[in-house]
Amino acid sequence: MRKRTLVAIGAFVAMAGAVAAVTVPAQAGTAKPSKKALEIGRQVLAANDGWAAEGTGTTGGSAADADQVFVVRNRAELIAALGGDNATNATNSTPKIIYVSGTIDANVDDNNQPLTCADYADPEYSLDAYLAAYDPAVWGMDTKPSGPLEDARVRSAKNQTARAMVYVGSNTTIIGLRGSKITGMNLMVSKVDNVILRNLAFEDANDCFAAWTPTDGSAGNWNSLYDTVSVIGSTHVWVDHNNFSDGNNTDDQQPVYLGRPYQGHDGLLDITKAADLVTVSHNRFFDHDKTMLIGSTNTVGADVDKLRVTIRNNEFSGVGQRLPRVRFGKVDVYNNFYRLTDEDTFEYAWGVGVYSAIYAENNFFLRSADIPLGDFVYNWGGTAMTEIGTLVRVGTQKPVAVSLVEAFNASSDTDTDLGTDAGWVPALRAGPVLPTAVVQTTVPKQAGAGKLGL
Ligand code: CA
Ligand code: CA
Repeated sequence: MRKRTLVAIGAFVAMAGAVAAVTVPAQAGTAKPSKKALEIGRQVLAANDGWAAEGTGTTGGSAADADQVFVVRNRAELIAALGGDNATNATNSTPKIIYVSGTIDANVDDNNQPLTCADYADPEYSLDAYLAAYDPAVWGMDTKPSGPLEDARVRSAKNQTARAMVYVGSNTTIIGLRGSKITGMNLMVSKVDNVILRNLAFEDANDCFAAWTPTDGSAGNWNSLYDTVSVIGSTHVWVDHNNFSDGNNTDDQQPVYLGRPYQGHDGLLDITKAADLVTVSHNRFFDHDKTMLIGSTNTVGADVDKLRVTIRNNEFSGVGQRLPRVRFGKVDVYNNFYRLTDEDTFEYAWGVGVYSAIYAENNFFLRSADIPLGDFVYNWGGTAMTEIGTLVRVGTQKPVAVSLVEAFNASSDTDTDLGTDAGWVPALRAGPVLPTAVVQTTVPKQAGAGKLGL
């Protein structure tokens, strides 16, 4: 049983200067930021380190005053540190540095008591009734659910969203202390500028009220609302040295309803709605299906010339698809390590969508021999991507140089063939690109939470 750990705002820790001594009450989940953690809180994205370095660069909350440096141990403390009101925190642009200590679960009430799916459910909603009402034998497959049970599902989802979605304002740095975790949360970086997220372990943004979508695919699908982190219409975001996963609540444990897996997760890190200038470095993405969506609509509008993202030195392990899937953006994908050895859950890695311009250089793939080389790229309406220096290895065999784009073209219909020039060359890079052969050892050693030495 979880102990009550809510503390008053007055217990927040204000640090006088970057390396001042810190005292916090001796309660479960507290931790004193190390000298190293205090230094890291003041760090900014290095010059030229990917698209987030463009223009004014990304400094997050590094300039925070002493009274805007916090250690938080639960949802209420996190929201207090972000400005005090989740409904308006997105507009709090005061520079702030927030250290996460212990496990923060989003599915709690204001007294930090756990909330279950049943707590969120509207009185008129039940899963059994929903399944009965929208069974294809009853409802058919041609239209999305509507009516009283769908309305009750939407009301239930709104109850959960009010807890699960946590909004971050401009000029914010959030750092995970050693062993910390954020679970059940959709961190919302929405319509803001200048945010840094580092050393955080994001797990299981599970949706209690997945929506049945009979029109999605040939057999319908369950779709969910929450990404662990959503970057929506925001600029200058640096996502560095974090873990992203489904935690203990993996897809293979979910039931099958209406003939399809009851999918409670959406993305891990989705970057949408004209978001721009994002650098994603040294993260671990693992045990999840839809991993990173860049651009959520084919509509030619706000996304044009936006959605510029750099994805470097990340490890993608045991993930299903969208590594990333791109629309519109010039997206630089270099020195990533892909461990894709489960042919049952893997769908594709690089999704080439409308007007996308992926520039992929020196990425390393460890694959199952049962995943054909033509399966790593998928054409979602794009025309071309640049690919340089890919190496692919099976088991303990020697890595081989492969063009995954050419393998895709050879294995698919002629009318979906992709060209091999995305039409741009990245200028914003942290330093020399690693030789692909060393990516398989260097990148997993450095990627993820717990690697910054704090
Ligand atoms: Ca999403
Ligand atoms: Ca072809």
